[in-house]
Amino acid sequence: MIRQYELIDMVKAYDPDLDEMLLNRAYVFSMKAHGTQKRASGDPYFSHPLEVAGILTEMQLDGDTIVTALLHDTIEDTVATFEQIEGLFGDDIAKMVDGVTKLSELEYTSETSKQAENFRKFLLAMSNDIRVLLVKLADRLHNMRTLHHIQNTEKRARISRETLDIYAPLAERIGMQELMNELEDLAFPHVYPEAHESIMKRLDYLYANTENVRDEVISELEKIFAENFLDAEVIGRRKQPYSIWKKITYRNVSLENQADLFAFRVIVDNVEDCYKALGIIHKSWQAVPGLLKDYISMPKPNGYQSIHTVVIGPQRKRIEIQIRSTEMDIIAEKGVAAHWQYKNQVSIKDGAHYRWLQDLLEIMEHAADPEEFLEHTKIAMYQNQVFCFTPKGELINLPAGSSVVDFAYAVHTKVGDTCVGGKVNGEAAQLKRVLNNGDQVEILRSKAQKPHQSWVNFVVTGKAKAAIRRYTRQQQKKEYIELGEEILKHSFEQEKREYTKKAITAAAKKMNLRGSGGVFEKVGSGEISDRTVLEIVFPGLKNKNGSHAVGAIVVDKKRPHKAGDNQLPIKGLAPGLPVVISKCCHPLPGDRIVGIVTSGKGIMVHTIDCDALDVYTEMPESWLDLSWNPPENSAEINIARVDLALKHVTGALASVLSIVAQDEGNVSNIKFSERSLDIFRIELDIEVRDVKHLTGIIAALRASKYVNSIEKSFS
Ligand code: MN
Repeated sequence: MIRQYELIDMVKAYDPDLDEMLLNRAYVFSMKAHGTQKRASGDPYFSHPLEVAGILTEMQLDGDTIVTALLHDTIEDTVATFEQIEGLFGDDIAKMVDGVTKLSELEYTSETSKQAENFRKFLLAMSNDIRVLLVKLADRLHNMRTLHHIQNTEKRARISRETLDIYAPLAERIGMQELMNELEDLAFPHVYPEAHESIMKRLDYLYANTENVRDEVISELEKIFAENFLDAEVIGRRKQPYSIWKKITYRNVSLENQADLFAFRVIVDNVEDCYKALGIIHKSWQAVPGLLKDYISMPKPNGYQSIHTVVIGPQRKRIEIQIRSTEMDIIAEKGVAAHWQYKNQVSIKDGAHYRWLQDLLEIMEHAADPEEFLEHTKIAMYQNQVFCFTPKGELINLPAGSSVVDFAYAVHTKVGDTCVGGKVNGEAAQLKRVLNNGDQVEILRSKAQKPHQSWVNFVVTGKAKAAIRRYTRQQQKKEYIELGEEILKHSFEQEKREYTKKAITAAAKKMNLRGSGGVFEKVGSGEISDRTVLEIVFPGLKNKNGSHAVGAIVVDKKRPHKAGDNQLPIKGLAPGLPVVISKCCHPLPGDRIVGIVTSGKGIMVHTIDCDALDVYTEMPESWLDLSWNPPENSAEINIARVDLALKHVTGALASVLSIVAQDEGNVSNIKFSERSLDIFRIELDIEVRDVKHLTGIIAALRASKYVNSIEKSFS
């Protein structure tokens, strides 16, 4: 076990400005907090944080990180609290310890590779200070080094599987080759015991017979470099069993074919010498075409630089050689940590804050392959995402700001359609509750539930929006069909004609619509008036009261009016511009109106109290003062929209429609906006002559026993 003064000496060796007091305090605090706790090995628990701190001093990490390492299990495993640590060690360290704790609390359960990738993204997003991730990786490394003390085989396998799936790839992503190799080889025998055993046996045999080849390659290389006066160090290392096994499984090559039982490495002083060394090697040994890779001019996104070549060496065996400078070698082995050692020495003295993630991204910016680069810059983009869990531990990845409903739709469309509420971390939550990183979300469902239009106001994912809209459209279609039939029955009755489906089907043919349903839908949605259908079924039908759709102000955006059309009785229009009566407030003759000159749509006509005008308050130049001409033609038809709350009883809708008809209004559109057990809310578009006409209809409706409330709609 490392002693207190030893740890301090280790850090001071590379960081002379270390805050010794702080480190001492952390040492004592952690030792006291862990007290008599023991590890599986029988060692005092405190030896674990101490060893983790030791691993991080090998990476030459700053004092704050070492302190964090000492404290990293105190919040999770002892009575120590965040506030205590904040008080004793300050905000930065408390946050880092909290970060490591959060990473540890999450258990990775699923075994699909997609989940593993999601989980890695999650860890990156959670460690917004990359030092948190480094502490977590060192923690994992020490746990793997002491894994043999755990008796339970399954537990060893589970922890090792997690190491292979999550932590080793993370180490690789931030360029820590050495750490990755050690994690993989510690985990390998526990996850694939048989594979490990057979590979180790085979390797023992192969190495026994190839050791002389290695020595020959090394001395041959040393000789040719000396002859060419190049100062170079030559190393021949055995390749890691796990990486050999990966190649065998994924690339389907046999062990005999592996040119790379050994990794030969040539280390020189600088970039220039790297290319010199390459030239010398290729002059002496024949290069295998197509296998030369220059990661010096095109570094890997994690900062890795080297030249790789494959040549036919002594005994006509293929050998793989990596050529790199000393600095490149350290970066290749230590990744981000090396980068820190090289570039941040100045800022240690300045006491400046380290911007780890920034640094990592900087390395990655040298990446040549745009796809690879994008893949890695995603790290920064994860800051805009939240990662939540299902009760079974499955990870759901959502954009920031997502709600319980988004989560439900991300799980499955059916789950979204039927969700009535949720539990977030065990506590009841509303559907619109915004989710945070790490939340565990349980969706409560009911078969009776239907997606609500209003959900669109708070969902953020495209999937949820599309599903809600799709449902609303289907629902609307259904309601249009029901309503259209209702309207037609009613107007047939008014004309004292017999209503038959057969007649409607015949009319559908003439109008080129799909059966009676097509006609109902068009009538229900107001695209075709009931009158039109009547006239098609009974040609020559007299226009009784002039409530013919012709002459109505067209609200259709596709066919805007031109100013000067005598159909529009509005004063003050600019000539030549198309005019659109806005759908938001449905201005009627008699309403106080203004026009807004827009660049694309021409003049939009609004009522003076319309909310849509707020946007234009700062742009007085686009306002036009308009007013209605006095009505010349009482048969003029305009469309008004009213909001109605009706009692949910049979006959309520029919009664409302007949009241409107009695007062010579014509319902051109109806929309259901809300349904509940005792009330349903509808929006009614009524063709009326003017405000006075509308006021009369509203008064009549208000008198109905079925109507709970009514108002002119502005939205
Ligand atoms: Mn730990």
